[in-house]
Amino acid sequence: MGAGTGAFLKPSMSFIPYGRQSVDEDDIRAVVEVLKSDWLTTGPKVEEFEKALADFCGVKYAVAVSSGTAALHAAVYAAGIGPGDEVIVTTMSFAASANCAVFQGGTPVFADVRDEDLLIDPREVAQKITKKTKAIIAVDYAGLPCNYEALVPLARKHGLVLIADACHALGGSYQGRAVGSLADLSAFSFHPVKNMTTGEGGAVTTNNEEDARRMRIFRNHGITVDFRQRMEAHSWYYEMADLGWNYRLTDLQCALGLSQLKKLPGWIKRRNEIAARYDDAFAPLAPAIRPLHPSSRIPYSSTIHGRHLYVIRVPAARRATVFSELRQRGIGVNVHYLPIHLHPFYRAHFGTGPGLCPVAEAAYEELLSLPLYPDLTDHDVQRVIEAVQQTL
Ligand SMILES: *Cc1c(COP(=O)(O)O)cnc(C)c1O
Repeated sequence: MGAGTGAFLKPSMSFIPYGRQSVDEDDIRAVVEVLKSDWLTTGPKVEEFEKALADFCGVKYAVAVSSGTAALHAAVYAAGIGPGDEVIVTTMSFAASANCAVFQGGTPVFADVRDEDLLIDPREVAQKITKKTKAIIAVDYAGLPCNYEALVPLARKHGLVLIADACHALGGSYQGRAVGSLADLSAFSFHPVKNMTTGEGGAVTTNNEEDARRMRIFRNHGITVDFRQRMEAHSWYYEMADLGWNYRLTDLQCALGLSQLKKLPGWIKRRNEIAARYDDAFAPLAPAIRPLHPSSRIPYSSTIHGRHLYVIRVPAARRATVFSELRQRGIGVNVHYLPIHLHPFYRAHFGTGPGLCPVAEAAYEELLSLPLYPDLTDHDVQRVIEAVQQTL
């Protein structure tokens, strides 16, 4: 997160970041148009973007918010999580995937992942369900959708809300269905390293009208009518119905989002092309280098990998060396992620620690993310491949 992105790290001959936004003249024009309009925030572009995103994901509703973290928080709020409730969450993710439960007073219960894909293991989830469990948060790690064929019936059987943290997977699909339509609530991030960007930003998609309505109130301080609705109704009166936040996304950002969304399918194609080139180049290097999700071994049919990250596994004893050698060659490798249950906050407040999720803990020691973004040139890809080969 953060590192490896932003204006201070433009791709150059010397440094290739692990992720980077694509912004063109159309994007810039769209934002400037809004700057000259009457509405900088909570105006018509918000609804327009929400409608476009909902259509893209094949769902009825999208609620735009100010970040992926806000999206997760809104989803957990919509799911009705409160003090004493348990939320089962994969440990192989960014901390926000679990923090969102804590924001509402809930208790994250960490589930281990499957070694072959580092996605939440449905058997682990089943074992960790108690009378207090209210929701499951599954993360489409690196962009590959989780095993929803197992997770959806499990959630139904136990009356749990299934939340997809799909921050890596926008633009992907699972067995012919778009990411964003696979769980009760799906959260997205539009941070610059993600599959498309609004600068900062996020959204939740759902088919549940009541959940969408409540999340719109939640993102606006818990106030039941927004400023534009009051303007149009010629009314000053508003009430705060519940505790909410300022999680609004601006019209500037939504205009950028609308412009970016049009290009997303092409970008996902390019991300998969690059991944396939890496796969081919690294296949002969096993077991020193093992791609996590080789294109030839996607476990489901009619599935498009969202390819936010290109993750390889290297022997744990060599990870630190490979990391620093690649960085020295100007290749912006990263590690995604330290398992959430190993963060000091969770150890201190939830009593977690080593041994809780052994598969994720062992995998973590081997992980490296290589540069992957649509504007990566074939020449850059070749440079990354050669740099990896030279570390051997
Ligand atoms: C990026 C990310 C988030 C947080 O999104 P922000 O927009 O940075 O708040 C949450 N979960 C996952 C899996 C992410 O990759």
